[in-house]
Amino acid sequence: MSGKRNLYSEFVTEIADILKKGGIEDALAESHFITEYLTGVPYPVFLAGMGEFDMGSLSKKAEEICQRRVSGEPLQYIFGEWDFFGMTFKVGKGVLIPRPDTEILAEEAINLRKGFPNTKYADICSGSGCVGAAVARHVKNVCGFAVEKSEDAFLYLKENLAVHAPEICPCLEDALLPETAAKYTELDLITANPPYLTKKDMAELQREVTYEPSLALFGGDDGLMFYRELTRIWKNSLKAGGYILFEAGMGQHTDVMEILRENGFCDIRTAPDLAGIERVVIGRKER
Ligand code: GLN
Repeated sequence: MSGKRNLYSEFVTEIADILKKGGIEDALAESHFITEYLTGVPYPVFLAGMGEFDMGSLSKKAEEICQRRVSGEPLQYIFGEWDFFGMTFKVGKGVLIPRPDTEILAEEAINLRKGFPNTKYADICSGSGCVGAAVARHVKNVCGFAVEKSEDAFLYLKENLAVHAPEICPCLEDALLPETAAKYTELDLITANPPYLTKKDMAELQREVTYEPSLALFGGDDGLMFYRELTRIWKNSLKAGGYILFEAGMGQHTDVMEILRENGFCDIRTAPDLAGIERVVIGRKER
């Protein structure tokens, strides 16, 4: 990029062109994200009459961002932050990027705890902490824990919870160990977005996803290992009548429902994401 760019919209178009030439599918949308990130001004605010910008000084930074993006790095890692449920989370190499599908998991959990005065809660396989923080922000009097075993992810988890949900305690522990689950008792609510990609999925990852930690993606050969183990191990940590909610991959919901049934859960149901995929599986511990 060269020369002085004065207009926000010209800047957007120019970045979109670079991204498009570099093979980025959603070039215009990503260009808007980049322009907003660099200027700190969302497009609608610009349109509402904020006038012209001197974009010239931003060109070098934009060029660097485009280069990284075109080489495959996800925008979320380049920015070092991403929004989820109306909050901004720090992200980077070593932690799964918060995705809009996962907002359904948080939303379902929040709805289940509406009207209760207190909630004892654990989010397991917490990653950035986005689910735990969303639940804590929208449920009354949460006493919460966020369990994550990756040390790299834990740094983000701690920082994000300190900003958005200090009532949730970050715990550097392996959720697959029975002795971890045994520390948590009488929970009203458990949420988890565990790794659920199959061996086959892992061999065919989208280029951007290869930048994310395989620890957060790979769910064993059939993708269901975490659902089997976490359900078996963590059901004892729930109160009678308490709920467990899992995010699941496309087409996995019937298997996950069956796992919950085998473990004695009742009121088992699913919730779809915005694309109509049954994304969340919910079960209630028998009273
Ligand atoms: N949703 C992620 C993907 O499609 C997978 C995240 C996970 O395994 N929990 O790549």
